[in-house]
Amino acid sequence: MNEGVMEFGRAAQSNVAGSALPTVILKPGEADRLIAGHPWVYSGNIMRVTAQIDDGAVVQVKDHRQRFIGIGLFNSKSKIHVRLLNTERTEIDEAFFEERIRAALALRWKHLPGATSFRVINAESDFLSGLIVDKYEDVLVLQTSSLGMDKRKHQIVAALQKALTPRAILERNEMASRKFEGLPEVSGLLAGAEPGEVTIDLNGVKIPLNLPAGHKTGYYLDQQVNYRWVAELARGARVLDCFCFLGGFTLHAARAGAQQVHGLDQSAEAIASATRNAELNGVAEKCSFEATNVFDWLKAQTTAGPHEKVVPRYNLIILDPPSFTRNRASIPDALRGYKEIHLRALRLLKAGGTLATFCCSHHIDAVLFQNVILDAAYDARKILRKVATYTQSPDHPVIPSIPETEYLKGYAFEIAGSRA
Ligand code: SAH
Repeated sequence: MNEGVMEFGRAAQSNVAGSALPTVILKPGEADRLIAGHPWVYSGNIMRVTAQIDDGAVVQVKDHRQRFIGIGLFNSKSKIHVRLLNTERTEIDEAFFEERIRAALALRWKHLPGATSFRVINAESDFLSGLIVDKYEDVLVLQTSSLGMDKRKHQIVAALQKALTPRAILERNEMASRKFEGLPEVSGLLAGAEPGEVTIDLNGVKIPLNLPAGHKTGYYLDQQVNYRWVAELARGARVLDCFCFLGGFTLHAARAGAQQVHGLDQSAEAIASATRNAELNGVAEKCSFEATNVFDWLKAQTTAGPHEKVVPRYNLIILDPPSFTRNRASIPDALRGYKEIHLRALRLLKAGGTLATFCCSHHIDAVLFQNVILDAAYDARKILRKVATYTQSPDHPVIPSIPETEYLKGYAFEIAGSRA
């Protein structure tokens, strides 16, 4: 049988090239997850391929009964052999990328109106597996984590220029994970001129960034809406911001009317920047920062000598740590870490105070995260009232049929009662 013969007239009309596409045929039972929206075809899902396929090439994927599922980009070097891109047989070219980018932008304008810095493309959750694009005012930073996307960087750059006319486009492709795709670690300018320092505006808070050197693509943009929600809890409060990085929560809390905010981060460089950022945002007199390990700091503050008592001093404590897990095996250690910081933070919270806490680990879901907090509350003899549930900002969309797209969980818990 000619694998190129189209079963669906509409798809066949949309692209003449479709008939020439090599075909990946799935094993029985492997299609449902893809039809539900998940874009990854693992090598183990594949029954056979109909031709020799070049890595990075466009392929069509069919189920074991030859029913067309979609087209995607192939890479035999990756465990993910195909990353699906479309349910129709269209060309994967500059126009395709421009359309996807414009659709993603429309979503951001709708859900983050007025935002000037945000994630433009969040890989799978914008139906562009292997591509991340962040917008820092008029500068874009791109990451391509799959070979197929990497090969199409020039088309993506051209499409981004049309959709957003940025001053510069940088790539920050230093992720170690690129080796699993057969890609080197690279970074540099893809278009425009070296941008220099870029000062982003998040909800009116100004944060200068050195984009070629910052974390990941430069900054963590996924808390943009949570900064606002958590800041609302800070009015009149004495606040402790643990893992403060450049001061995202600290600055928002201070501007929202906190009485005093203390930020902690183990990176001396981050603390130096956060200190400057407090000046820049006119809240220096309310903010203090300390370069320290949060675990050690919390332990020192909550360890009482004989005849001493731990004095609760804060009305709001924010915990936004990095992921404590790298893989499933590290979950038990991570849970111990989460419990430890929650237990100690609860001891430092005044009666009626609030804990705003986040977990960005893929391996720990919302239920497990809440359970660990409740375990800590039990040990601290506190009864908690849940007053808010948080997730990642809407420029990091969640597609429930792609569980990997949902990673940030957060809660605000008030101390509702204490036992001796
Ligand atoms: N809340 C920040 C993001 C935090 S990212 C924001 O809104 O932007 C995690 C931060 O935790 C990093 O800045 C890292 O330097 C810091 N960090 C990691 N482990 C730490 C530890 N044990 N003690 C203190 N800081 C730590």
